[in-house]
Amino acid sequence: MKHLREFDPDIYNAIQQEAYNESNRLIMIASENHVSLAILEAQGSVLTNKYAEGYPHKRYYGGCECADMVEELAINRAKELFGCEHVNVQPHSGSQANMAVYMAMLKPGDTIMGLDLSCGGHLTHGSKVSFSGIVYNSVGYGVNKSTHVFDYDELRILAKTHKPKMIVCGASAYPRVIDFKMFRQIADEVGAYLLADIAHIAGMVAAGIHPSPIAVCDFVTATTHKTLRGPRGGMIMCRSEYAKAIDKTIFPGIQGGPLMHTIAAKAVCFKEALTPEFAQYQQQIVKNARILADEFMHYGLSIISGGTDTHLLLIDLTQQGLTGKVVEDALGKANIIVNKNTIPYDPKGPVLTSGIRIGTPSLTTRGMKEEEMIMIGHWIEQAISDPTNEEILIGIQHQVLALTERFPIYEMMGQ
Ligand SMILES: *Cc1c(COP(=O)(O)O)cnc(C)c1O
Repeated sequence: MKHLREFDPDIYNAIQQEAYNESNRLIMIASENHVSLAILEAQGSVLTNKYAEGYPHKRYYGGCECADMVEELAINRAKELFGCEHVNVQPHSGSQANMAVYMAMLKPGDTIMGLDLSCGGHLTHGSKVSFSGIVYNSVGYGVNKSTHVFDYDELRILAKTHKPKMIVCGASAYPRVIDFKMFRQIADEVGAYLLADIAHIAGMVAAGIHPSPIAVCDFVTATTHKTLRGPRGGMIMCRSEYAKAIDKTIFPGIQGGPLMHTIAAKAVCFKEALTPEFAQYQQQIVKNARILADEFMHYGLSIISGGTDTHLLLIDLTQQGLTGKVVEDALGKANIIVNKNTIPYDPKGPVLTSGIRIGTPSLTTRGMKEEEMIMIGHWIEQAISDPTNEEILIGIQHQVLALTERFPIYEMMGQ
């Protein structure tokens, strides 16, 4: 990065500092990951210069041969990876992907039904502060108050009462397997379209570790930067019958020129995801999350839903009388990065929260396994037991630094 260092040392230094922080901290934010150097190179390439409005071989600008090649490779690999009939790889983000599905199929004021934010849903599933709850009439569903898993009977009653035109399943903080078939049955009973948003679990779906929604849902949206471990971006998969409506809603409906450098990086991500090593990686993510959940329960901590089937888990801090905010800050001092998160029906609200969300995708990318999870679980438990004890937190930080040094991010990815 010598040009950047010379011309713009401020930005150069911020990037260097970020690289340093990522390597010296335990990143346990469930939605983050570390991409490969191949992906970074594609993302940082001259394709950022190219305007390619439209779709391969149907562009509004000349000179799109390379853009066509790149986008076709991304499309074909995504189809192979997920087994979908149609895919649009242009959404700038997961939120844009969801917006396009709604705009393609619904009119303003139509009813959508998605998981409440406080129960693990995403802003774009109908939150009142998001376009999804402003433009559409949104009805939220929750999880069972004692088991913290979906209550499909309750969902069915709610759907029959409100007759949504679209049901959204998928979540940002739900640790259990989602039964897409059950959602399909309910959607069919009320004549609703079914959208599965697999932003978080796309990597596990690609690897066949989480059931795939492709065959049973009308639309599947995903992000490419969470467990899928690609560049920051979104994608939409659907059956051929909806292909035209989706494509024209993305462009010219809600976006202009596609980010061709990002689409190139998505193509590289899909190629990586088709390898056996990627499937092993996804298995290890889940193994690591399960071990952490077991460790925490062994220490007497309360885990939402009593465990996990995925890459993430939620610790309920109510018994300790702590907020997620306090624990997030305490762990930050120990170089362990997590996020405060509401637990189902959280009385404390989204600023303080009663929980923290913990994910294993980043640590697993670095090559950490069972043994390291047990150590990390112990450190987190120590910090929760005494979150204002700076001495303990600094002691943990030293141990974290010794551990991260043994697991350099880019070496463990074979590069
Ligand atoms: C992360 C996430 C998104 C959106 O992602 P952005 O790329 O940040 O817009 C959408 N849906 C769910 C369920 C998510 O977790």
